[in-house]
Amino acid sequence: MRPTVLCFSGLDPSGGAGLQADIEAIGQSGAHAAIACTALTVQNSQQVFGFEATSKELLLAQANAVINDLPIKAVKSGMLGTTDNIAALAEFLGQHPDYLYVLDPVLVANSGGSLGDQATLTKAFAALIPLATILTPNTVELRALAGCDDITEATQRLFAMGAKAILVKGGHENTPDHIKNTLWVNGEILSETTCPRLDGEYHGSGCSLASFIAGRLALGDTLPTAVHHAETWLFGVLKAAETPVPNGQKIPKRF
Ligand code: PLP
Repeated sequence: MRPTVLCFSGLDPSGGAGLQADIEAIGQSGAHAAIACTALTVQNSQQVFGFEATSKELLLAQANAVINDLPIKAVKSGMLGTTDNIAALAEFLGQHPDYLYVLDPVLVANSGGSLGDQATLTKAFAALIPLATILTPNTVELRALAGCDDITEATQRLFAMGAKAILVKGGHENTPDHIKNTLWVNGEILSETTCPRLDGEYHGSGCSLASFIAGRLALGDTLPTAVHHAETWLFGVLKAAETPVPNGQKIPKRF
């Protein structure tokens, strides 16, 4: 049985983001994906119409049903939806300190739609930050989590909150021809990666990247190697992305 990543993530009916992105990315990384579903969202490639979150009891029951069944090496979280679900995940990870953990601190969809109350989710994420092997915020999420605008200061604040490693994704920065991602470990920059900025908006790029990293970590890669593999893979699947309707965000072609 392949090493398994247990994902705490939501269902996106468009198949671009959420748990489908996780399953596809982790499958492509070489690992196996298991899912504890945090929420059922109602959305397409253009907008979020709403969501219903899973209760924390049902969420933990899903996770606990597979822990002795599958060779879980890592956990990945995306949309958690409620502060109760964040607390439930913190409790679960506290019981399994041997699991590697990739925290993608999802606050809003790329389309701008709400995936939970931003202010309360931001505060609740503080409990998960010290438990994570790596956090993968974009700069909007980084600034919201840290409560400050300057990127370097914001990363230092997350390290002060107990973060061990942070991949800061630069896709939301005003760099028209390129995107720079920066990998910080223990308060220092370990590496920077720059790639050309592709045209258009993408649905599920963050989920895909974080999940691929989790898959590679589960398979035994070091953190820098897992991040490098994931960034290279993501660029290819975004280049091949498909446009569902003229106004829709592009859906990464992960196969
Ligand atoms: N999880 C779910 C269920 C979502 O619907 C979304 C965005 O729509 C995300 C996560 C985050 O998506 P992205 O990878 O585009 O940031």
